[in-house]
Parts: sequence; structure tokens; C-alpha cells
Amino acid sequence: MRLNQFVCRTIAELDAQLIECRACPRLVEWREQVAHDKRAAFRDENYWGRPVPGLGPDDARLLLVGLAPAAHGGNRTGRMFTGDRSGDVLFAAMHAVGLSNQATSVAQGDGLRLIGTRVTAPVHCAPPDNKPTPTERDTCRGWLEKELGLLAPTVRAIVVLGAWGWQALLPALAESGWAIPKPKPRFGHGAHILLAPAGSDRAPLHLFGSYHVSQQNTFTGRLTPAMLESVLSDAATAAGLHPRR
Ligand code: SF4
Repeated sequence: MRLNQFVCRTIAELDAQLIECRACPRLVEWREQVAHDKRAAFRDENYWGRPVPGLGPDDARLLLVGLAPAAHGGNRTGRMFTGDRSGDVLFAAMHAVGLSNQATSVAQGDGLRLIGTRVTAPVHCAPPDNKPTPTERDTCRGWLEKELGLLAPTVRAIVVLGAWGWQALLPALAESGWAIPKPKPRFGHGAHILLAPAGSDRAPLHLFGSYHVSQQNTFTGRLTPAMLESVLSDAATAAGLHPRR
């Protein structure tokens, strides 16, 4: 399947086409196998088992970029960072700084609403061990480029959660109309770079780095709620939103 065959004029069209994608054979097999086998705690639920689209308004000023959906989180609920421990940390922080109307995200239909902010990932299908291959990352980049292009009229800041997402996003940004400095900006928690537009139809874009909200980081204290809220607040301000913090 060639992603560039798709023409998406709106985020809604993008999401509708994305959820039909079967371009990565290993990930298609894995996401469907997990959805069939299920975790015991969720055995009575119908897993989503498909690509998980971005979450949030189509005129977002701030974009959060993670890694990929979790097998029993987004791959179960069909919504980014929804129904897993990483999401618990992320949405609590987003709510604390005024980027969501509630602090929890447990299932579709739970009333969650993001404020001026969209959440997406460079890879939209749950990968084994949370590790997409370079080929899978590059294949899914086409969707990310389309999303960046559609958000370009409004998006003014991006927060990347983790070094993997950072490396995946830079080529998509370059392809989507922003100039990436040489040498490439390095990921770090609290990193902040202002990207210049490469064309006249793009605005400058603030790029922020944060450690990922994985349990590996949050359980060890490498990433605390205060650290995450600080980056989100700075990025929201740069994006022209009005954070509480
Ligand atoms: Fe399609 Fe992306 Fe899923 Fe691969 S990871 S099957 S490109 S949605």
C-alpha cells in the first residue's frame, strides 16, 4: 500500500483513511493478535485492533508527538494514550496546565476534550515490545506528514515525548515545510528550538522535547509530573494558548 495515493483534505478524512491502513504486515498481525488474545483484565472488552488516529481538534495550536499506541492501551480503546498508565500521567499533566477538560482518559465516550491541542504518534499501530522497526517508522511517516500539513495553518508548537519520537519527527517536519538546522537539533528533556519555515505558507514552529511518559521514566522519577507540566506550559505559551501553570 502506498500512502501517497491518499488525498486527505481534512483531519477527519485523514483519520478515516488512516484507520483502514494495513501497510505494515508485522504490525497488522501483531495489533490483531493482541486484540484477539486480550489481557485477562480486559477479556470482556472489544479491542480496537486497528491504527489509532490522532486525538484533538483539527485547528490545534499545540501538537504532542509520542511513539506508538500501547498494545492494551490505545490498541484496546482506539484512542491515543487512553486506558494505560502512560496516559494517566500525560492527561493529568495536560489537565493541570489547562490543555484538557479532565485529568483522566479511560475510554472513548468518557467526555475527554482537548483544548487547542492534538496528540499523535509517528507510528499508529501498536508494535511488539513498543519497538517499531525503521521500515515501519518510515512507512508510517506519510501519515504524519499529511497530519502536519493539515495542521500547518494553526500549529505553532510541538512537544515530542522521547528521543525516538524526536528522531522520527524531524524528517517529517523537513518534508512538511520547515527547515531543520544542521547539525540536527539534539533531543533532551527541556530542549527548545524555533524552526524557521522553508516556504512562505508556513509559520515558525517551536519544537520542545520531554522525556516520554512511559512507566520506565515515571516510576523511576526520571520524569516527574512537575517536569512534564513545565514543558507543556512553556509549549502552550509558545503556541499562543494560555496555560494555567
Ligand atoms: Fe499503516 Fe502506520 Fe499502521 Fe504501518 S504503522 S500499518 S503505516 S497506520
